[in-house]
Amino acid sequence: MPDNESELREACGVFGVWAPGTPVSHTVYLGLFALQHRGQESAGIAVSDGAKIWVDKDMGLVSTIFDDHRLRALQGHSAIGHTRYSTTGASSWMNSQPVYRAAAEQHFALAHNGNLVNTAELAQAAGMAVDEIGSDSDVVAALLAKELSADGQDHGSDALMPSFLQVLRRLEGAYSFVMLTDHFLVGARDPLGFRPLFLGRLHDGWVLASETPALDVVGAELVREVEPGEVVVIAEGELVSHRPFSGEAATPRLCSFEYVYFARPDGYLGGQNVHRVRQRMGEALARQAPAPADYVVPIPESGIPGAQGYAKQSDLPYVDGFIKNRYIGRTFIAPTQELRRNAVRIKLNPIRENIEGRRLVVVEDSIVRATTLRETMRMLRSAGAAEIHLRVLSPPYRWPCFYGMNTTDRSQLIAANREVEEIRTYLGAESLAYLDIDAMVEAISPDSAPGLCTACLTGEYPTPLPS
Ligand code: SF4
Repeated sequence: MPDNESELREACGVFGVWAPGTPVSHTVYLGLFALQHRGQESAGIAVSDGAKIWVDKDMGLVSTIFDDHRLRALQGHSAIGHTRYSTTGASSWMNSQPVYRAAAEQHFALAHNGNLVNTAELAQAAGMAVDEIGSDSDVVAALLAKELSADGQDHGSDALMPSFLQVLRRLEGAYSFVMLTDHFLVGARDPLGFRPLFLGRLHDGWVLASETPALDVVGAELVREVEPGEVVVIAEGELVSHRPFSGEAATPRLCSFEYVYFARPDGYLGGQNVHRVRQRMGEALARQAPAPADYVVPIPESGIPGAQGYAKQSDLPYVDGFIKNRYIGRTFIAPTQELRRNAVRIKLNPIRENIEGRRLVVVEDSIVRATTLRETMRMLRSAGAAEIHLRVLSPPYRWPCFYGMNTTDRSQLIAANREVEEIRTYLGAESLAYLDIDAMVEAISPDSAPGLCTACLTGEYPTPLPS
């Protein structure tokens, strides 16, 4: 549900490429362009030519920051990139990524998707003062720099990977990293695999990306997911896999909201096409909560496949109820209530012809804060909707996320302290139903054990929580 105030925001997209003799910065640009939905506050690219690392980053969208001239200045054999939404650390140039550090004659650039839950403890271990803590990614870079210079000796490039693996063992929470050094491209995923990370082949080279469509757009072939708890190191064109975490592999906990909202529908997660998963959620919702209606209407964009599934299962006609303005970037926070209402219309405008006098099933992917959704319901009503039966493709979002979503404040979650009936009244719908959690998990993973995080829906967190 897109809006400044109520949008669920993902914590970043990462991309990496090792492909000597090719324009790697342009490849990263295209990869980041495909991952733009994962973060729109800032973006950056780091390139290595084997002796130096250059980093170029700025606030804004990938397409507004980089042009051909800027990309041509970034020459090398390997590169990483990042698109950012802030979770730990403010939205500022200082906290944009990739982060760069040099220590003990070594240097590296690091880009991170996810959120750590022991940042304060790590910052202390890195010797950072409270006012020095920027993003949790910066803390990881500081810790690695400290590890590298621990004994004051220069151990050469051989020291970097053992030190990085040592640092990874101290991290708690969610991370998919890409890291660039003079000699290596590295991808690392936390032991529970909260955030996705994929490995692809680009001719003789390698690509790492948060989502599979980013592999598609650069012409890379999907090899496999980087597995939870795996670190892949690409050097001299060869890939070596490390398993730095001791003990039995834990059950994976891929974020279920990657399927509900964040991931691109053309992508694959856990072997499942995201668009098809959302359709199955809609089908399950139609079985669970049928409604007397004339039309099924999606709230664009992520409600669309769910509405298609609901319509098919319930044998009701699917129609568009809104036109979404595709060209809008971030909007300003409007100073008056009236302008704020209009700001919703800038993004979404109703098609009166399909609404007036109709009983509508309206399909939404999730309800988090509900401020924008309330305005959307008002729009439908003022366009003449006779009845609105709101159907939601996920269970009530009741608990904060500490693994990379911007929902750490429970007081802002509408379902945290309200029953479904109160939410229905607040939104002004004739009926409201959420998909049951078992049905959601079944829709995500019909053939195998799911291995999902559902903490924001159940309150059952798979790691210790931040103090
Ligand atoms: S708490 Fe919710 S949003 Fe956060 S990682 Fe888990 S499922 Fe995803």
